[in-house]
Amino acid sequence: MLPFIYDILPSRVVFGLGSLERLTEELDRLGAARALVLSTPEQRGLAAEIAARLGERAVGVFDRSLMHVPIETAQAARAEAERLNAGCCVAVGGGSTTGLGKAIALVSGIPILAIPTTYAGSEMTPIWGITEAGVKKTGRDPRVLPKTVIYDPRLTMTIPPQLTATSGMNAIAHCVEALYAKDANPVISLCAEEGIRALARSLPAAVKEPDNPEARSQALYGAWLAGISLGSVGMALHHKLCHTLGGTFNLPHAETHTVILPHATGYNSAAAPEAMRRIARALEAPSAAEGLYHLAASMGAPTSLASLGMKEADLDKAADLAVQNPYYNPRPVTREGVYALLQDALRGELRKIP
Ligand code: NAD
Repeated sequence: MLPFIYDILPSRVVFGLGSLERLTEELDRLGAARALVLSTPEQRGLAAEIAARLGERAVGVFDRSLMHVPIETAQAARAEAERLNAGCCVAVGGGSTTGLGKAIALVSGIPILAIPTTYAGSEMTPIWGITEAGVKKTGRDPRVLPKTVIYDPRLTMTIPPQLTATSGMNAIAHCVEALYAKDANPVISLCAEEGIRALARSLPAAVKEPDNPEARSQALYGAWLAGISLGSVGMALHHKLCHTLGGTFNLPHAETHTVILPHATGYNSAAAPEAMRRIARALEAPSAAEGLYHLAASMGAPTSLASLGMKEADLDKAADLAVQNPYYNPRPVTREGVYALLQDALRGELRKIP
């Protein structure tokens, strides 16, 4: 057995259908008063409902969260938190809204109570991200890890089928890379394999029947395990590549993860055989890469970068950027290898693994 370091992240998780009912109790437990509720404009209704539920405990709703947390949005939200003398943030939504809560916590240190409504997993990580002049800066800071997370699968029943599939594949990507992480450890590997299993078994049903309580509960359970995996160990080629494609070519986050994952997994397959065995076992598939490709395709999720608007002419720049800063990956990252991977992903053709 390889030596390892296991660093547990402190957060309280309240999981279950109807767990939103425990919101006021959880805020009291956190000892946090004067909550500022955060959401996207699309989820304004839900944010208002949560503020109403909190009554006097809520001091306002900031409903302007945007993908990738633009610095202007972060500054406006920070100013609003300060003006209202907020004692905590209640972030209800996907990774973008949790990310806005983190941008506030990063400067003010006020606690976040997160109520995730997608499978992105940001609520379980101490990773923040803020975009300035088209460049997304990320960092780790224990202050931005939400203190309490309420997972209520009921809130995920409104995720449209396409986002259910792609957000779920985004969560699976965290688990895949955790299994071959440089700093992998046996506990996180258990979480990651179980996360893939729970998501792969439930996502197709959640896509077909969005209000199926069991499918939604299993999928959110898997997303929680994926979030733990993402927050605990380092990611590799797949996440770096998606970060580059999202930032430079403005490709949508969850869809890009969905398209790249089978190809990045294929790229690493010979270099990480034990991880591949576990991924394939969780997917009940003959190989990890094939299993991931077929899972996405079976849900009608995008399988090619071309369908997301990427052009053949963009591949050179993407490959250059992907190899600019060296980072850990089980198989060495070469420009030639990344270019071939991107070409396959552009066309949505899975390379045969010998
Ligand atoms: P998102 O938060 O941008 O949400 C996408 C859209 O779906 C929004 O319009 C939102 O209002 C809507 N939506 C969310 N939940 C819904 C629901 N239940 N029903 C109907 N509509 C709903 O998307 P995301 O994929 O959750 O998050 C992506 C962002 O999170 C990216 O910026 C990514 O970089 C970041 N992220 C950060 C971390 C981290 O650890 N820091 C982890 C994962 C993702």
